[in-house]
Amino acid sequence: MDTWKIVALDTGTSILEKSILTYLTDVGTSIRIPRVMWYIEGQGHRIMVDTSVESETIARDVIGENLTRGPEQEPRAALALIGVDPASIDLVVFTHLHWDHCGNNNLFPQARFLAQRREISYAAAPGTFFQRAFLSPALGLMPPYAGIRLESVDGDQELWPGLELLHCPGHTPGSQAVRVKTTQGWHTISGDAIFTYENLNRDIPPGFHINVDQSMESMHRIARVSDVVLPSHDYGVFAGQPVAEFGT
Ligand SMILES: [Zn+2]
Repeated sequence: MDTWKIVALDTGTSILEKSILTYLTDVGTSIRIPRVMWYIEGQGHRIMVDTSVESETIARDVIGENLTRGPEQEPRAALALIGVDPASIDLVVFTHLHWDHCGNNNLFPQARFLAQRREISYAAAPGTFFQRAFLSPALGLMPPYAGIRLESVDGDQELWPGLELLHCPGHTPGSQAVRVKTTQGWHTISGDAIFTYENLNRDIPPGFHINVDQSMESMHRIARVSDVVLPSHDYGVFAGQPVAEFGT
């Protein structure tokens, strides 16, 4: 079998100014979004895609964002909800290295960690506007990916049959999506290349990016190669349930 199962876990809730998600659109309105960690299982492997926000304190004090996290949204508790021991995870893939996608790495002591080479080098010395989003040492901060076994990948790559990394720049230089073959077709975990279904349905780029043209191209590419797109910050993924499963 070359198919995999994906489970989306809700590990926190934020209220954001909506145009952060939909570029220059609906300015002045707000939107409620999830902080999603993705679990993938198949072919003898247990994989996480992204490791969420480290703490409400970092969200508030460093980013200036009001993140709430109920007990069931604690990353360890969210994994317990689906019966997964974090120590059994053998690989963590980072879609990118922003603060809210790589924050709980010490939960996974047995894992290798993987990001795009371009992302690792940009995160080491981001443009000044983006320093805070990467928790850059230039601001005296400690990036959450410091001190882990971070390995690099360069461009598109098949990890195993039915599980592929797609380099999708625009949000950050080394953003990547994870394309996964399930019993219900090809699902793509987009990372912040696509924040919400609305980006796709209204053809609006995500509102936070280093290159808006690349953002559009990456969004269109993901849509083209996927039966189902799984955006990074849309409660629609959960369809009202505490966890959402894709494939069996
Ligand atoms: Zn991001």
